Amino acid sequence: GAADLECDMLVLGAGPGGYSAAFRAADLGMKVVLIERYATLGGVCLNVGCIPSKALLHVAAVMDEVKHFADLGVAFGAPSVDLDKLRAHKGKVVGKLTGGLSAMAKMRKVTVVRGYGSFLDPHHVQVEETTGDGQQKTGKAQTIRFKQAIIAAGSQAVRLPFLPQDDRIVDSTGALQLRGTPKRMLIVGGGIIGLEMGTVYSTLGSRLDVVEMLDGLMQGADRDLVRVWQKMNAPRFDNIMLKTKTVGAEATKDGILVKFEGEGAPKEPQLYDLVLQAVGRVPNGKKIGADKAGVTVSDRGFIPVDVQMRTNVPHIFAIGDIVGQPMLAHKAVHEAHVAAEAAAGEKVAFDARVIPSVAYTDPEVAWVGLTEDQAKAEGRKVKKGLFPWTASGRAIANGRDEGFTKLLFDEETHQIVGGGIVGTHAGDMIGEVALAIEMGADEVDIGKTIHPHPTLGESIGMAAEIAHGTCTDVP
Ligand code: FAD
Repeated sequence: GAADLECDMLVLGAGPGGYSAAFRAADLGMKVVLIERYATLGGVCLNVGCIPSKALLHVAAVMDEVKHFADLGVAFGAPSVDLDKLRAHKGKVVGKLTGGLSAMAKMRKVTVVRGYGSFLDPHHVQVEETTGDGQQKTGKAQTIRFKQAIIAAGSQAVRLPFLPQDDRIVDSTGALQLRGTPKRMLIVGGGIIGLEMGTVYSTLGSRLDVVEMLDGLMQGADRDLVRVWQKMNAPRFDNIMLKTKTVGAEATKDGILVKFEGEGAPKEPQLYDLVLQAVGRVPNGKKIGADKAGVTVSDRGFIPVDVQMRTNVPHIFAIGDIVGQPMLAHKAVHEAHVAAEAAAGEKVAFDARVIPSVAYTDPEVAWVGLTEDQAKAEGRKVKKGLFPWTASGRAIANGRDEGFTKLLFDEETHQIVGGGIVGTHAGDMIGEVALAIEMGADEVDIGKTIHPHPTLGESIGMAAEIAHGTCTDVP
């Protein structure tokens, strides 16, 4: 049929997956149209995810750090927090990055179309123009014809159906708006997103409760790493409710009255000034008219893809949160490059051995590859090298020696299979462990690599030497 616009490559959604795919496709010579319903590029990660959360976490970490400075002979007064300014700062950080993306799109002649896209058939998409925060439609629409497409429509926060509609019940996007500092805050879901937001609010003055259905917080990470985080962070919490569920809530004038069930449930319903729902994210696969293009979507809304990120329809690819776990920005970006290059006819595949995870809490918790808990569960024989930061000159100099660095090696091949770090800057260090795994490095490769002294990163070399039995620097 007639189209208002034609392109070689249509990219649906401008998050880390979508903009990376659009830019790579343009660099490979394709005429690219990028569709986004939000006013800015960058998706969840830049607008309401990774970046604004880290802007706030940085401020919180500095505030927490200087509290201990009196012991070092440098005393600061009690902080006076101006939430308007803090919010403005967060907005500026986001604006710099999303503005940068717009400029990069222009430079590459990527056509950005503002609106809500849904497929009409395997070669056409309809885009309904949106305004404001991306939810309102203006009534204008256009049809775009494409040769190939990449679906990067991401995910959104799960809403618990039994929680009432109320300003005081928010998801991560609402929490990032930082409308105030509630006295009592409940985090529903003890995963990374909830605990990161909880860190920010608690440093600003909120008391925290957290409720988690499983038997521990920060699932996926080894328990020994999480224990260090939990010991340091215990003072933030009044109640950590494990193996417990939220079963109902009532909005009252004094707060949100929440009922719990399970092993950690308090007898009485509890009153909160703010409830953060952080129980996971659902993919947007069912909201884009995928069936009209013939693209298969799973019951849960994920789009199955092959190693080239191709859906069941060979000229339509999908990447990022919408194709599955882990829902992380760095995974989306790498998948994006594979999809764009495959669409250009290159022989590529997504074959990452490992994808690192980081909780940007204080201390940070980072892990990659096989965990010790997994190795135990699978009966895999691994050799462990654990370097406690109490033996790290830099960690002691920083006044932050609570962490440790742990590496796991295959007992037969001596190749590294996983690693975990808890401590300040753990997230910045875990990339080296990922590289070592990708390169098939062994204990000696890592242990004999000269790391600069004194750095926290040295702990990676030391952990390898410990596993190899050649470390003489640890008691
Ligand atoms: P998204 O970023 O979700 O982008 C999808 C885009 O598509 C959105 O902009 C959406 O508006 C648009 N869209 C959807 N449907 C349509 C449509 N029909 N028409 C037009 N546009 C559409 N990950 C990390 O790696 N590190 C972190 O520190 C981190 N922190 C996070 C903190 C929070 C609070 C949250 C919520 C997430 C965090 N994540 C983090 C996860 C990360 O944000 C996602 O993994 C990442 O954004 C996924 O990228 P994506 O491109 O798949 O999709």
